[in-house]
Amino acid sequence: MTDCLFCKIVAKQVPAEIVLEAGRALAFRDINPQAPTHVLVVPKSHYENAAALAAADDGLADDVLKACHAVAVQEGVADSGYRIVFNTGSGAGQTVFHVHAHVLGGRGLTWPPG
Ligand code: AMP
Ligand code: ZN
Repeated sequence: MTDCLFCKIVAKQVPAEIVLEAGRALAFRDINPQAPTHVLVVPKSHYENAAALAAADDGLADDVLKACHAVAVQEGVADSGYRIVFNTGSGAGQTVFHVHAHVLGGRGLTWPPG
């Protein structure tokens, strides 16, 4: 998609601090981190949200989830605990409509979320 921020990050047209490139998935640091580790994991191809990614049905959702765990290991938060969040729809706080998993860790995380 031409007018999508995360497609532009994938295409390296917009700078980002990339932490992992794993086949069809890319991980980069959130520009406004909410925890010591706050990384976004996206499929390189454009899907609007988690529902569209799930419907892709070609293993891409698996790749994204595996990349999330790889990021947690690489960031050193896999053992202490981390959270994977897909905000899906504006009512849930989604603001960028290229599906992305937030991988959060490095501090205690409370429940329920806000
Ligand atoms: P969401 O609200 O779930 O759609 O999450 C969008 C996330 O993208 C927010 O946490 C933003 O801080 C983050 N974000 C926005 N622009 C950028 C950017 N240029 N590079 C990295 N992260 C970004
Ligand atoms: Zn996109």
